Amino acid sequence: MPAPKIIDHTYDVVVVGAGGAGLRATMGMGQAGFKTACITKVFPTRSHTVAAQGGIGASLGNMAEDNWRWHMYDTVKGSDWLGDQDAIEYMCREAVPAVHELEHFGVPFSRTPEGKIYQRPFGGHMSNFGEKPVQRACAAADRTGHAILHTLYQQCLKHQAEFFVEYFALDLMMDADGACRGVMAWNLDDGTLHRFRAHQVVLATGGYGRAYFSCTSAHTCTGDGHGMVARAGLPLQDMEFVQFHPTGIYGSGCLITEGARGEGGYLTNSAGERFMERYAPTAKDLASRDVVSRAMTVEIRDGRGVGKDHDHIYLHLEHLGAETLELRLPGISETSKIFAGVDVTREPIPVLPTVHYNMGGIPTNLHGEVLRPTTADPDATVPGLMAIGEAACVSVHGANRLGTNSLLDIVVFGRAAALRAQEAMKPGTPHKPLPKDAGELGRSRFERLRNANGTMSTADIRLAMQKTMQLDAAVFRTSSSLAAGVAKMAEVAGTLPQIKIGDRSMVWNSDLAEALELENLMDCALATITSAEARHESRGAHAHEDFPERDDATWMKHSLAWVEGGKVRLDYRPVHTHTLTDEIEYIKPQKRVY
Ligand SMILES: Cc1cc2nc3c(=O)[nH]c(=O)nc-3n(C[C@H](O)[C@H](O)[C@H](O)COP(=O)(O)OP(=O)(O)OC[C@H]3O[C@@H](n4cnc5c(N)ncnc54)[C@H](O)[C@@H]3O)c2cc1C
Repeated sequence: MPAPKIIDHTYDVVVVGAGGAGLRATMGMGQAGFKTACITKVFPTRSHTVAAQGGIGASLGNMAEDNWRWHMYDTVKGSDWLGDQDAIEYMCREAVPAVHELEHFGVPFSRTPEGKIYQRPFGGHMSNFGEKPVQRACAAADRTGHAILHTLYQQCLKHQAEFFVEYFALDLMMDADGACRGVMAWNLDDGTLHRFRAHQVVLATGGYGRAYFSCTSAHTCTGDGHGMVARAGLPLQDMEFVQFHPTGIYGSGCLITEGARGEGGYLTNSAGERFMERYAPTAKDLASRDVVSRAMTVEIRDGRGVGKDHDHIYLHLEHLGAETLELRLPGISETSKIFAGVDVTREPIPVLPTVHYNMGGIPTNLHGEVLRPTTADPDATVPGLMAIGEAACVSVHGANRLGTNSLLDIVVFGRAAALRAQEAMKPGTPHKPLPKDAGELGRSRFERLRNANGTMSTADIRLAMQKTMQLDAAVFRTSSSLAAGVAKMAEVAGTLPQIKIGDRSMVWNSDLAEALELENLMDCALATITSAEARHESRGAHAHEDFPERDDATWMKHSLAWVEGGKVRLDYRPVHTHTLTDEIEYIKPQKRVY
């Protein structure tokens, strides 16, 4: 096969990814007058954001009194004090205008009888600094992400952003000074390669749930932005913190939103007991996700699981009545029917904790600028490179994300990135000449994989990786499970050079696309398991049985993982312990009980 043709493009800004984060940034950049391209490997409205069900968090106070300070307190507590409090303050304050902005853009939120945006209870959302549950999750039935994504896409079209749909971004173009100058992409439709030059590249490529065997994320959630950053010699942050959602459908992994428990659903074990009352006397079934997932795992381990193998838990919604289910939870009623064969008006749904969200990712500041931390300056940034959304680690979620805070994160920081770009540059600024070898990293990787003629299939290597992560980087971790996981992952990553691509073509070659994704997933998996093995404490989603307590003296710090050639190097940077304004004080670490 001949070498692919390379086509050049020049933009002020290139956004990679068209989920909620990418679209909010694209819209803002377009609005600011920047010539903006948005590159996406799937059609924008098929991004994983479309699957978000439960809601977006904001202290609107439509159902009862609420306050951004309480939202901030809950987020800091949910993060188990690993989140950066300046960034958390920014997000929680911006939440209220962000949701009103979405409303004005046209998001069809559910309504209260008075016509206000409907808000439901969610895990870890409390009033008055942790006192009692509050209704903070703004919802469009159980299809909130769908409503937001479609609305944002329409807004982008209005602001004349140019979309490159079904273009697969391969690698960043970095110059000798360490600045990002653009990105290389492969057009799936005709096999051509495209060199996008830009003053600002914004990575909004989403999470890497597919590093695990069972997850709620779409098949496209393969950590491509993480891989690009790792290959550019930059670190990934807090990768050991992987959220297990308590209620994935047993067997298929499809999500049943926490909003189901927000509307009054509850969990039971084989004795029919509402066991969450024992683990979280105040919040019960609406405790934070890590807390509920661990409680379910303990119940199953102690022999109180349901089903013939006693290996899952029941989620009850029957008592809510057909009318509420139809009004508030129509999507999950349908999902339960299709994926579990369950009529939710009559019987409980079989559920199991399932990988759901990556708290870790590409480290950034609260303007979305990517960090290249050094000992002298842990907050140093990379010129020309931003990251937002689930791909990024700002860090507002710390060791455990609260439900509804990701839809919030993507719109708040998507907007923040566009605001920062406006401060930093003018539309139409001339470009410096590109380095001679610009795009070579992406081109050579593409060629190497296209011609890979080893003995192993992408699917086999991927399965070995996913099974290892599922087994050894699970809800509960031990020194021996993590050591075994690190060794096994090194072995699995070592098989990558043996990959075989059956089809040499460059057009719609899904085998090649999956191999490119697998390399990205592998970097994520290696960073996750290695960072997890090193962290000798339990914090948020990282529950280490040999170190069951949180250890703030030693471990209140962000992990940084550089992945190169299958090897991981670790370092750490301090957690921000200051707030953004003097309207709230730093929230000091406390014991985390619900
Ligand atoms: C089932 C489910 C339900 C959820 N429910 C909620 C909820 O109710 N509330 C809440 O707050 N959060 C929820 N979350 C989490 C939240 O939806 C996600 O974290 C968030 O939507 C991620 O948005 P994003 O824009 O960062 O990424 P995504 O929406 O995943 O978009 C990623 C984009 O990047 C593009 N891309 C990736 N790689 C490449 C590449 N190599 N080249 C080109 N393009 C690329 C993709 O095409 C896509 O457009 C849920 C998550 C799941 C999985």
